Amino acid sequence: MTEVQTVRGPVPASALGTVLMHEHVFVLNEEIRQNYPALWDEDAQVAGAVARLQALKDRGVDSIADPTVLGLGRDIRRVARVNEQAGLNIIPATGLYTYNDVPFFFHFHGPGTLLGGDEAMVEMFTGDITTGIAGTPIKAGFLKCAIEEALTPGVERVLRAVAEAHKRTGAPIMVHSSPSHGTGLIAQQVLRSENVDLGQVLIAHSGDTADLGYLHQLIDGGSYLGMDRFGLDILLPTDQRVATVAKLAAEGYADRMVLAHDSSCHIDWFPAGVREQVAPNWHYSFIHDTVLPALREAGTGERQITTMLVDNPRRYLTAGRD
Ligand SMILES: [Zn+2]
Repeated sequence: MTEVQTVRGPVPASALGTVLMHEHVFVLNEEIRQNYPALWDEDAQVAGAVARLQALKDRGVDSIADPTVLGLGRDIRRVARVNEQAGLNIIPATGLYTYNDVPFFFHFHGPGTLLGGDEAMVEMFTGDITTGIAGTPIKAGFLKCAIEEALTPGVERVLRAVAEAHKRTGAPIMVHSSPSHGTGLIAQQVLRSENVDLGQVLIAHSGDTADLGYLHQLIDGGSYLGMDRFGLDILLPTDQRVATVAKLAAEGYADRMVLAHDSSCHIDWFPAGVREQVAPNWHYSFIHDTVLPALREAGTGERQITTMLVDNPRRYLTAGRD
């Protein structure tokens, strides 16, 4: 039986149940958090996260995939502390999140740099998947990278490092993309050039567009589409996100889509209170409260909803492990 790695250890793939394929627990700048401790109350944040995740479990979600990697403040021990008290599966990731340069840690060594040499990221990501993250036995279940506006040298380096770690481990790849810049297609080109099976690649944030021509191109490439920012109406209103998913499902592409919010218990990118004001629907239960009823109304069947929430995440997370 194929297993999937979670914060609480490996679980049988069949036990993942309903999965939201892109939700963060905490998104932080760890350097700022450590240097300005008045901005962070650890016990209160952990308790808040436990309450939100338990409410999500009570709403019918069994698992979340958490693509919080380097650059987003991953702290696997903090997430484990939350998960001790919240009864759902959290699938952690490894990789690096940047829209531009690599961190200075990698700047002077590695392929194409002053000192050259091997790509240190490959060993780091591979170790997270095969040995465990940060000295814990908790292993990453998938790889994460990002391409926002363009393929900068730093972004390309991370994509190629992630591709290599994927080939060594079989862990699937999730790519943050920007449909308005068409960068899902660029990510597919780079990963294809590394001989990655695009059927093991999830193009995150594809749901930020209603451009079916663009989405068909991504599907033709073989990847999963992350319809994964429900509630972020500021980027694309809910009715357009729902109509796009319903249309693709009606065309027979439910087996190419996964659903999520890209929400979090706490994100430090916005001043206190602003997130709730600007994006009031951007929270973990919006899909179950509002989106699924709207999809049913738009003609999407239960079988298709199950495909997107249960079958596709299981297939994606286990494809390279069978
Ligand atoms: Zn995200």
